[in-house]
Amino acid sequence: MNTKEVIYELRTKKGMSQDDLAERVFVTRQAVSRWENGETVPNTETLKLLSKLFDVSINTLLGSPRKLICQCCGMPLKDDAIIGHNHDGTFNEDYCKWCYADGTYTYNDMNDLIEVCVKNMVSENFTEEQVRSYMKGLLPKLDYWKRYDELSDNGQFEK
Ligand SMILES: [Zn+2]
Repeated sequence: MNTKEVIYELRTKKGMSQDDLAERVFVTRQAVSRWENGETVPNTETLKLLSKLFDVSINTLLGSPRKLICQCCGMPLKDDAIIGHNHDGTFNEDYCKWCYADGTYTYNDMNDLIEVCVKNMVSENFTEEQVRSYMKGLLPKLDYWKRYDELSDNGQFEK
């Protein structure tokens, strides 16, 4: 689906007219009509309002152009339901809801996270050893841990 179809579907599912939607996100009915005709795409500020109104991520509104991956644990964010939220209720599309809850990061220690992943990921085909070495290779490549290293060098993460 692309943006015009996504907006049309979300609006009609909510039983809103183009006028209703226009009023909620402070644009004209013509603007809504242009989005749904595919002539224009909402600007960044309006996307934020739509995201909040419909409770879907901006990535979903844009027709899912990006493959979102949690930048802390590496989990693919295939569904808006597992994306983390900021304190104000908006989505933080960089993290899953387990690593980033209500504006707070869950993990300060990579080894803690690896232990959690080991518990959740071990299976017949994936031994504890394999999970551990997989996570040790994956995690340092993710944004959160890259940034964590920089910050901890500055003593910012010291307790
Ligand atoms: Zn995560």
